Amino acid sequence: MSLFKLTLKELQDSFTRGDVSANEIARSYFLRLSVVESKVKAYVTVNDKEQILTQAQAIDDELKSWRKTMPLMAMPIAIKDNICTADLPTTCGSRILGQFQPPYDASVISKFREHRFFSIGKTNLDEFGMGSSTEHSAFGPSRNPWKLSHVPGGSSGGSAAAVAADECAAALGTDTGGSIRQPAACCGVVGFKPTYGRVSRYGLIAFASSLDQIGPITKDVYDAAMMLNVLAGQDPMDSTTADVPVSDFTRAFKKKDVKKLKFGIPKEFFAEGLDSEVEGAVRQAIEELEQLGGKIQDVSLPHTGVAVATYYIVATAEASSNLARYDGVKYGIRAKDSQELLEMYRKTRQEGFGPEVKRRVMLGTYALSSGYYDAYYAKAQAVRTLITQDFDRVFDEVDLLVTPVMPTPAFKLGEKIEDPLQMYLSDLYTISASLAGIPAISIPCGFSQQGLPIGLQLMGRPFEEETVLRAARAYELVTNWRKKRPAIR
Ligand code: GLN
Repeated sequence: MSLFKLTLKELQDSFTRGDVSANEIARSYFLRLSVVESKVKAYVTVNDKEQILTQAQAIDDELKSWRKTMPLMAMPIAIKDNICTADLPTTCGSRILGQFQPPYDASVISKFREHRFFSIGKTNLDEFGMGSSTEHSAFGPSRNPWKLSHVPGGSSGGSAAAVAADECAAALGTDTGGSIRQPAACCGVVGFKPTYGRVSRYGLIAFASSLDQIGPITKDVYDAAMMLNVLAGQDPMDSTTADVPVSDFTRAFKKKDVKKLKFGIPKEFFAEGLDSEVEGAVRQAIEELEQLGGKIQDVSLPHTGVAVATYYIVATAEASSNLARYDGVKYGIRAKDSQELLEMYRKTRQEGFGPEVKRRVMLGTYALSSGYYDAYYAKAQAVRTLITQDFDRVFDEVDLLVTPVMPTPAFKLGEKIEDPLQMYLSDLYTISASLAGIPAISIPCGFSQQGLPIGLQLMGRPFEEETVLRAARAYELVTNWRKKRPAIR
């Protein structure tokens, strides 16, 4: 069997046992990339093959005398291109950063390096994470491995496509309003957004700092737990990381059922706009959870209807401030032929940012401007609290919430690019968990008649990642969705 088809856990087991060498793993993945990457276009930058092979050789040589491995040693992992890497350019899918080479690694990358992972490359994204299809990348869109005419979702579309097309064993994504979960659903893989504060954001280029979280995109739920084991934990470099103990998340899988767990079905997530095939698959999944011993209960999150509006004020306000630093002075490109400083700022931003980023900066600046601050930004913050309180209330009654991830399966390239509102509505079901900062996972739960994957979302209480993982794993083990792979070759 080809190594690139294995899950992270399977690959790690084979490597730990000594059945496969680091060299064989690296070669297998670069061969895979040479076959499918030109079709999928998951990566902005692919790492240098010779360099990875040299790392592989060093690992294999060392293991000859002393066989001590680390969980992610020699594991081929892809990194979303808004996470700083000292050895590869970090573009954020934007022209404005040019070939920016960060002078340091993000904390999550330093942790991976301690394990001696293989950094396969940097994956494509909507510019600065703003979008739901990767079509807003300055480097062109990635494709959905299930149907190349369709989007892979976004903004971590490159990471999800790379995992689905076996171009890496696992990937890192980032999620501000759904960008891990939504592309995972589109590509039929697992995407896990941890609790806000669980994983360090140091070295993650900021979009909306009160919402951004790094998390894994993987082939199954077990792999997500393995990745989280390395990613999670307090970091002195990020004061928003929480001082919460990190256990071995794979312990969650000791129990194979969901007996005693209560699942809430929020009625607002099954209202108008939900595609009937998606609803059918999700309802079927709810039945499976019940058969596994779970208790199903209808609940209400009354402020769901204003989540998208709230998000697009909070996120754009934070983005307008975070992106003020791209003025041609310190990072990336600088417009030529300017007579004075303001003109240089203006031209650089005019040339460097794409239309969606400009739209967000304008929206956010407006929401923060004096005279409108109270009407928009302050109001949105108050509503954000109401949304969080909705969750606090239902989590007194139930342990987990079950919903769709996306109102429809993946759409065609070009279908929504001219209609920002339609694009924004792709995140209707993922945004609430981001605003509330709670953990949420997307796992495959079926396929549309067109053969496109459908995702199921489970949301849990803050820092109860284990409960989310346990239920997700129990569900995936009794269904075989994860075993279906796209036919791309
Ligand atoms: N699609 C949403 C947006 O455009 C969420 C993006 C994200 O989570 N980075 O803002």
